[in-house]
Amino acid sequence: MSSRFVIAGTGAARGMALGRARLLRPSQIRLDERPLAENEVEPEVERLRAALLHAREELKVLRDKLHGALAREVGEFIDAHSLILDDPELTEGLYTLIRKGRYRAGVALKMQRDRLAAAFDAIDDPYFRSRREDIDHVIGRVQTVLHRDTTPAERQIASRVGTILVGDAIAPAEVAHLTEHGVLGLVTTGGSPLSHSAILARSLRLPMVVGAREALERIADDDLLLIDGGSGEIVAHPTAQDLIRYRQFQRELARSFDQLARFKHAPSLTADGIHIHLFANAEMPADLAQARACGAEGVGLYRTEFLFLQRRELPDEEEQFTAYRNVVLAMAGAPVTIRTLDLGADKADATGLALAAEPNPALGVRGVRLALRWPAVFATQLRAILRASAFGPVRVLVPMVTNAGEIGEVRVLIESCARELRSSGYEIADHYELGAMIEVPAAAIALPTIIRHVDFIAIGTNDLTQYLLAVDRNNDALGELYDPLHPAVLKLLAQIIATATRAKKPVTLCGEMAADTRCTPLLMALGLTGFSMHPSSLLEVRQAIAACDHARLRKLAPRLLRAQTKAALDRVLGDAKI
Ligand code: PEP
Ligand code: MG
Repeated sequence: MSSRFVIAGTGAARGMALGRARLLRPSQIRLDERPLAENEVEPEVERLRAALLHAREELKVLRDKLHGALAREVGEFIDAHSLILDDPELTEGLYTLIRKGRYRAGVALKMQRDRLAAAFDAIDDPYFRSRREDIDHVIGRVQTVLHRDTTPAERQIASRVGTILVGDAIAPAEVAHLTEHGVLGLVTTGGSPLSHSAILARSLRLPMVVGAREALERIADDDLLLIDGGSGEIVAHPTAQDLIRYRQFQRELARSFDQLARFKHAPSLTADGIHIHLFANAEMPADLAQARACGAEGVGLYRTEFLFLQRRELPDEEEQFTAYRNVVLAMAGAPVTIRTLDLGADKADATGLALAAEPNPALGVRGVRLALRWPAVFATQLRAILRASAFGPVRVLVPMVTNAGEIGEVRVLIESCARELRSSGYEIADHYELGAMIEVPAAAIALPTIIRHVDFIAIGTNDLTQYLLAVDRNNDALGELYDPLHPAVLKLLAQIIATATRAKKPVTLCGEMAADTRCTPLLMALGLTGFSMHPSSLLEVRQAIAACDHARLRKLAPRLLRAQTKAALDRVLGDAKI
């Protein structure tokens, strides 16, 4: 009988999902080694018989789903596995172990597997020796059926819902493919809400829970799961009451959409009439549609590395041009900020860039450093971006800048690309803007020297927080220490905003804190007037802005910067309630 249990993790992508667990690592089956009592023997034989039958049916269903070349190649293996399941030597041997040896079915299966494996290992012929794997697969399948902990009612629900992937980690490239394959949600034992996988999950609207340490130990394949990507709660074998909660969540979601709808095309104004610029972070075409529908002023961050991650070879100029042009066209005249490649050794292995492994990729050859070391790859991207600029206003944003020299090198390269394109007859915009991500503390501190070389800046608080506090953004063990509200981060943010404002250069903040309405008044108090976030948060942030008095907030900046704790920050902001 399956019983409900709850695993706590950290919410990484909001939303609830109900689905069948699919483990990215086979579940660890714990075998019950206690001998059977006499009256348990025949029921155990029946349990095994039913499991064998079920495994046979599963193979048949699998076989029927195959078509074409796959049916020939994989079909052979499936047939071989079905034959093993029908082999009386295997089945009779199992029943004898249960009846005579009083072993439970799981233990009997393991004993038969070990015996057959030893027999296969003794065979000289390498082909026959390799068939041992088939035995492992078949017995593993029966073990899974035997230990599946689902009720018939659950199985009925499970047959109608998609899957929730459960693994130690899920790479961004994998996330990109998931929704097309019926995946409804993600659970990882490690990871953090700031990882690129989590950012992508939010973009795909795939609820995700990270840091659910016990997930792989306690969840089995096919368990029915209800996950809450907001609170981080995972309920296995949900009860009728849990399902009511799930339906309620869906109803509330629809209601809050209705409530927020009035902010869709309203200007982003504070209560005292100050205009705050709201842009969208985008990775997927759906993000652009939502950005427009929610009245974003443009795209503040288009992360291009996802274009590179979904493939084994590098995208060529035409392909990149088409992707960027489509973004520019989709935004219908609103500015689009395209960030150049932000890859490092940790993300590049799926891209066709043969990068040497690095002991510390976060501090290694990544972002602009990588781009400048692969000038041909970088030039291809810059050419594609420049060509897209013929279709609407484009801004080029350079990640991981540490000094003004890097911006100088990018400018030289982009200008030479522009000259080449023009002389080959391509139409490109007369004007494009070049900006720097400020996400390395050195760049933030040296901003007065860098700002002269750029047209705008974008603050990347995800990385700025990680580098300033020396806390890996992907390491959930450091969760509490990763704090974008740390006094040092706030002080540096205030300094960056003040420097950009003095230099009359536009500044937006495009890290995840831009989407957090608890940070909205605080960031406005520090003088920020440009936010870029995933479009699903735009309306909530606009609502939060409308509830703030800008003049009153600005006066609080000195007190906020003196606050040493979150409680102190809240107290100061509480004084500004309107
Ligand atoms: C950031 O670092 O804050 C940022 C927006 O970029 P990414 O999350 O892609 O590193
Ligand atoms: Mg970054």
